[in-house]
Amino acid sequence: MYNPKSHKAEEFISHQEILDTLEYAQKNKNNIEVVDKILEKARLKKGLTHREASVLLDCDIPEKVEEIYALAREIKQDYYGNRIVLFAPLYLSNYCVNGCVYCPYHLKNKHIPRKKLTQEEIRQEVEALQDMGHKRLAIESGEDPVNNPIEYILDSIKTIYDVKHKNGSIRRVNVNIAATTVENYKKLHEAGIGTYILFQETYHKESYEKLHPTGPKHNYAYHTEAMDRAMEAGIDDVSLGVLFGLELYRYEFAGLLMHAEHLEAAFGVGPHAISVPRIKHADDIDPDAFDNGIDDETFAKIVACIRIAAPYVGMIISTRESKECREKLLNLGVSQISGGSKTSVGGYYKPMPDSEDSSQFDVSDRRPLDEVIKWLMELGYLPSFCTSCYREGRTGERFMEICKSQQIHNFCQPNAIMTLKEYLQDYASNETKAIGEKLIAKEVELIKNEKIKQTVKENLKKIEQGERDFKF
Ligand code: SAM
Repeated sequence: MYNPKSHKAEEFISHQEILDTLEYAQKNKNNIEVVDKILEKARLKKGLTHREASVLLDCDIPEKVEEIYALAREIKQDYYGNRIVLFAPLYLSNYCVNGCVYCPYHLKNKHIPRKKLTQEEIRQEVEALQDMGHKRLAIESGEDPVNNPIEYILDSIKTIYDVKHKNGSIRRVNVNIAATTVENYKKLHEAGIGTYILFQETYHKESYEKLHPTGPKHNYAYHTEAMDRAMEAGIDDVSLGVLFGLELYRYEFAGLLMHAEHLEAAFGVGPHAISVPRIKHADDIDPDAFDNGIDDETFAKIVACIRIAAPYVGMIISTRESKECREKLLNLGVSQISGGSKTSVGGYYKPMPDSEDSSQFDVSDRRPLDEVIKWLMELGYLPSFCTSCYREGRTGERFMEICKSQQIHNFCQPNAIMTLKEYLQDYASNETKAIGEKLIAKEVELIKNEKIKQTVKENLKKIEQGERDFKF
């Protein structure tokens, strides 16, 4: 029985409700009256239900599809302006006891080099990431209670926050580790993590169990209910995602939105962000072995429909995708991207020889961060290294309130400008700096509130003079 408020996976992600949704969407996808009514609601920019959004996703009337894209762009602009937040993944360990068939870290893979960073190696990696200009990391780890127990993850978080190298600091550590207990989520919360990230991989229970044949991750309910436990433990920033390619994308899309609706219904706060990874080639993994791969056009439509259905949610795209693909998706709703990423355990501090390559998947966008920043600015975006919301306690419900009322610009735009200034001062190449300084001058002039404009100008001067003690 479908019940978005329930804490039971089979009730908030009801298989029957998804099937009914898909049927409803197929039936109505080209019914102009229904589609127009949904678009009318969508224009209020307060979101759509999973059923409504599923109709838009299936709709293939060319003019309506154009309207969907235009609306996604408009909502993106309204809620996020031209800001794009940057982050990098940091792989701590690829020891893993699970049997995920799409991931090269699966237990049966005996030839991939297994590696776990020591605290000293983490410090070196973090210095290298700080030298690139990063302020926000997502730590990644395989699931292995012996090699990567929660204590190891907690020590690593502390090490990361403690590294202060030149003008650098990591101000927000997001955590992508396997589903765990309320007790462990409490420990992560106390360690001051930013967002807890966990991809569902697939919402389809039967497929989920086949794709995760062995190990603790096999348990669909335990995995699917992880965000409930995280929230119970006090983590109010969580990030959802599915691995597109594993199951039918329509099914995943409905499941993803139902999961977001569930968090909102049960805890009063939806997900902070949604990631949209697609399966990639990796060590012993061939993405063509999976039948549900999606083309770039479908992928773009999914991103646009998520943006319309959940206007306030951050949307993340990683370097799994190429520069061209990322360029297209930025325009349709993506608000956060990784840059200069390595998906191996180690590799930022010194390059990995092939024999030690422990990459989780192949990266398509291999450009260094400086190039990514320059590219974003040339496209008209304002790269942001801001982590201020989290540092100022604007998380969970409080963040959502500010975000939904579209007031977030008053915080984010000035902070984006100032953190970009820090980046330009400390890390940018001359060419990137020249472009960035021009952009900052333009952005400052666009600030409407005179008082805020004045403060930003003063802070920009302080940053130029070397002050770095801001709560961005
Ligand atoms: N062990 C944790 C867990 O089970 O959730 C951390 C996840 S892993 C380090 C990060 C994510 O990478 C996974 O959730 C999965 O969606 C994704 N991933 C795994 N194999 C992949 C592949 N071949 N291509 C693209 N993404 C992949």
